[in-house]
Amino acid sequence: MIPDYHWHTSRCGHASGSMSDYIREARRKGLLEVGFADHVPMYWVPAEERDPGLAMTREELPVYIGEVIELRRENPDLNIRLGLEADFVPGRERELKDILELYPLDYVIGSIHYLDGWGFDNPDLAHEYGRRDIDEIYRQYFSLLCDAARSGLFDIIAHPDLVKKFGHRPQSPPLELYRQAAGAFAESGVCIEVNTAGLRSPAGEVYPAPEFLKQCRALGVPVTTGSDAHLPEQVGAGFDRIPGLLKMAGYSEVALFEGRKRKMAPVT
Ligand code: ZN
Ligand code: FE
Ligand code: FE
Ligand code: ZN
Repeated sequence: MIPDYHWHTSRCGHASGSMSDYIREARRKGLLEVGFADHVPMYWVPAEERDPGLAMTREELPVYIGEVIELRRENPDLNIRLGLEADFVPGRERELKDILELYPLDYVIGSIHYLDGWGFDNPDLAHEYGRRDIDEIYRQYFSLLCDAARSGLFDIIAHPDLVKKFGHRPQSPPLELYRQAAGAFAESGVCIEVNTAGLRSPAGEVYPAPEFLKQCRALGVPVTTGSDAHLPEQVGAGFDRIPGLLKMAGYSEVALFEGRKRKMAPVT
């Protein structure tokens, strides 16, 4: 049982496919435990400045929720979960909490996509890596990641080392940053996501890196899984790699979510 809990649809403005396209693809690939995680409306940006190419509008959020609930009703043989991917923005925790409390979510995936307003995973802004110190970028990213875990807002931490996306690596493997982050995850009781989108990025490696995953395992941090599909064809992409990776790190169970409660299931 490996869930695919991380799907984006055309509603995000930068992904394609309708919700039913994703369900059809899940059936085709034999996935039974799945979930939508469209990006939360950009609550930290004034409404008139929100980019419709990055996330759905605030008005669309209840429509999204309703559609997932309807799809679940129409497909009783699948476990279709209602999730959201939500950016952690320091100082704006209250606003996010107020949004999340309004809906019957199964899980919230917390992400870091910005360092002081720089969308570091956006290919259009990747030139900025050349202007900054890579070690400093990593420190800043991991510090936010720990704060996100400790915020208590999230059930799952998305793509834990997204900062490697374009293949920029620090001088030496950031083992101390992995250790600190794993400690923050363990302390706050949050689960991490093994996210196969890394395989499709220049990094060419699942998020998180094997060493990072091992650190998490050593401290008892649970894992769940997602493809971060932005196209229906990407549903379950790279999932053949997951059992081996989990086994290598010492995991025999994955976390499943319903109503923001976690239960564990065997990997196979
Ligand atoms: Zn996206
Ligand atoms: Fe993300
Ligand atoms: Fe995503
Ligand atoms: Zn993501």
